[in-house]
Amino acid sequence: MPNACSKINSAYVGRFAPAPTGALHLGNARTFLLAWLRARSVSGSILLRLEDLDHPKVKRDAAAQAYDDLRWLGLDWDAGADSDSSYIQSNRLEIYRRYFNEFRERGLIYPCTCTRQDIQNAQSAPHPGEEMKYPNTCRGKYQSAEEAEAATGRAPAWRFLLPDEDFSFTDVFCGVQSNKPAEWSGDFVVAKGENLPSYQLAVVVDDALMGVTEVVRGDDLLLSTHRQLALYAALGFSPPDFLHVPLVVGSDGKRLAKRHGDTRISTLRERGVEAATVVGWLAATCGLAEFYEKLTPLNLLPRFALSKILLARAVVDDPAKKLLGIA
Ligand code: GLU
Ligand code: ZN
Repeated sequence: MPNACSKINSAYVGRFAPAPTGALHLGNARTFLLAWLRARSVSGSILLRLEDLDHPKVKRDAAAQAYDDLRWLGLDWDAGADSDSSYIQSNRLEIYRRYFNEFRERGLIYPCTCTRQDIQNAQSAPHPGEEMKYPNTCRGKYQSAEEAEAATGRAPAWRFLLPDEDFSFTDVFCGVQSNKPAEWSGDFVVAKGENLPSYQLAVVVDDALMGVTEVVRGDDLLLSTHRQLALYAALGFSPPDFLHVPLVVGSDGKRLAKRHGDTRISTLRERGVEAATVVGWLAATCGLAEFYEKLTPLNLLPRFALSKILLARAVVDDPAKKLLGIA
């Protein structure tokens, strides 16, 4: 098992969880830099888990490129998918299946045959984020997956019966997050098929089994955390701490993406931008450096303090152009 790894024995265990669905860009590199600084500032360990369940979006070579980009930036980790295949989610399907079976035996999940369109048609009011609320249409409807499939001709997904409870937590950075996900999420998908766990199930099982003590990730996942806490409770695992960091967004307020220019780390690197320039720029968007300082993650470590991190999402326009000295 991964946590048998002798390199992971510190009190603090953090993680990088890249999805090999696209290239590492300035946005996710910034989150990884913060996760690294946080862990190393308390002499903690970091593991790197490859979240490659999102077929068919997974791209060949994206994983190797991500490891390479992270190393180029000066980020390191103590155990991970590059050298130990048990940190690759697609190799862990049997483990997720065990928890899926447990949920099914305990009657905590049920088959759902609704299409996206069905759920869209059932919307009555806007909900937080861009989420659609699932109105629990299939709760109690079918006795088995076979029955669901026979009735509709569709292979069902599996939804978790979300208790009508508060799943609040105190985020290490964002503070108290009070929330009753049943009010806006409805029962959510834990598996798209018996052997296809969703992100929510896989991430909870992995963070728990791998001994992660604190999850550092982008604040676009704040709302997911409440649902994940419901799974921790159902599985009897104690949850890690959560530290959500503000994302970098374009001037349109949307998270950094292709429309904001090519911000891939590999492109900047190919065009001759130094790693220290990129790291310095990332640190500046967090409030940890001046713009255009050249820094390595190690240089930054003594300056790191959570209290210095800017609370607001950093707004940037075509950052690649700036880093390349074009604008
Ligand atoms: N694999 C997810 C992503 O790349 C991260 C999930 C997480 O940190 O919980 O967005
Ligand atoms: Zn349904």
